[in-house]
Amino acid sequence: LPKELYGKRRNSAGFEFGHRESLEALMARLATENKSVDATPLVPGAAGQTEVVNVLSPSDRSRKVGTVRNAAVADVDRAFVAGRKGFVSWSRQPAEARAACLDKMGDLLEQNRDRLLALLAAEAGKTLDDGIAEIREAVDFCRYYAEQARTLFVEPEVMPGPTGESNRVLWRGRGVFACISPWNFPLAIFLGQIAAALVAGNAVVAKPAPQTPLIAFEAVKLFHKAGVPADVLMFLPGGPDIGAAISAHPQLAGLAFTGSTGTAQAINRTLAAKNGPIVPLIAETGGINAMIVDATALAEQVADDVVMSAFRSAGQRCSALRILYLQEDIADGMLEMIEGAARELNLGDPALTTTDVGPIIDEKQTAMLKGHVEDMRKTQKVRYSGQVPNSGNFFAPQIIELDKPEALTREVFGPVLHVVRWKAKDLPKVIESVASTGYGLTLGVHSRIEATIRAVTDALDTGNVYINRNMIGAVVGTQPFGGSGLSGTGFKAGGPAYLMRFALEQVVSVNT
Ligand code: GLU
Repeated sequence: LPKELYGKRRNSAGFEFGHRESLEALMARLATENKSVDATPLVPGAAGQTEVVNVLSPSDRSRKVGTVRNAAVADVDRAFVAGRKGFVSWSRQPAEARAACLDKMGDLLEQNRDRLLALLAAEAGKTLDDGIAEIREAVDFCRYYAEQARTLFVEPEVMPGPTGESNRVLWRGRGVFACISPWNFPLAIFLGQIAAALVAGNAVVAKPAPQTPLIAFEAVKLFHKAGVPADVLMFLPGGPDIGAAISAHPQLAGLAFTGSTGTAQAINRTLAAKNGPIVPLIAETGGINAMIVDATALAEQVADDVVMSAFRSAGQRCSALRILYLQEDIADGMLEMIEGAARELNLGDPALTTTDVGPIIDEKQTAMLKGHVEDMRKTQKVRYSGQVPNSGNFFAPQIIELDKPEALTREVFGPVLHVVRWKAKDLPKVIESVASTGYGLTLGVHSRIEATIRAVTDALDTGNVYINRNMIGAVVGTQPFGGSGLSGTGFKAGGPAYLMRFALEQVVSVNT
């Protein structure tokens, strides 16, 4: 890709939590940001279901954050009918106009940061630092894709060819694209998919996760304010019935999905069963993400990175560390440090600056996590279980030592760290067991031996490999994010190839 793609854009500004006056001012502003949000479908001519559902905060189930009126299944077809019309004018606009809408959206997100931050804490249980990082990521997605579109989509690319012929390749929107997103990044991932699909020239039908419709609703309204027409971006809150109707719709031109591997496979089957156009699926799913630590690693750094990668965000990131391979010689000392650090984590109200770990998104997830630890207790060693606050939907960090890596058979989406010991001569076996999961999202390596680092990274197809650092929080345009195998299709979000997947290519060859 052309060099000009890199280096012009700056990532959005962060927030200095260490600056007392700014923090006090932020907290004072956040205290006033508690207006209820009432989400409805945003589809021309669609009223949604008659029932209105309360959205409750995961950290305090007595707190109502707002309400949602979910879409009716019939609204899905309405959205596609409207979207087909909207697509015609949107896709014919110059790419520059669409890119300008994304830039505007980035500005609006920054202007509305406090409101979004409060909502991320209340609806999704995001701690303040996670909330700030998520808003930054959302802004960065908008500006990064805008910049990319200006380079890729503005002028057709002239291809070399024989004398007497001109050949030009151009990219444009495919039609009505669906974006289906998860609750763990209800703003950044929701909006990143939409921004990419829109700027590539598509109309978009967006379905948020049922747990987090409010922040998504706010994001769609901001997109509309930024200049995206109502029939170009449509919002369909709802559950699996809405998702299924979207994937099965005959007018669907492509689908971007982030969520569980099982759901991605189900969508893939639905798309394959249709007797119509063959459309792209961009899936980003989960992983049984490993970190391999050898005896040369810097212990303090490992402890910090393990706690950060496994427990921060309550382990509710698809990139989070799930299984830690510790070289036997250092395992006891390392585990002691990690447990000590885990003990220091403060669980509680995500909107307080003293909180390190917020709640679990809902009771179903908490029950799954409890069930997993109980199951493990029967055959494996649960070394550490933290304390939970008295109320709210929390689950404390756990450290479980496995007798063999195969004891962990699935992704456990929460603050549960599994640990396996390995002997120095067994590095190839460790690599083999990481590969055998079939996932390939993130991987951590802590070692000061160049040959070990190379052996591990060369042998595995993992999408994002982090050496001697933590393994979460990929930065847009710096660490394009996404996996392989059971972890997804690629291309990577926030990376140079992503937009292409949303576009249709046309080559025009003219006999001159
Ligand atoms: N991109 C995020 C990270 O690097 C994870 C995204 C996800 O959880 O889906 O931590």
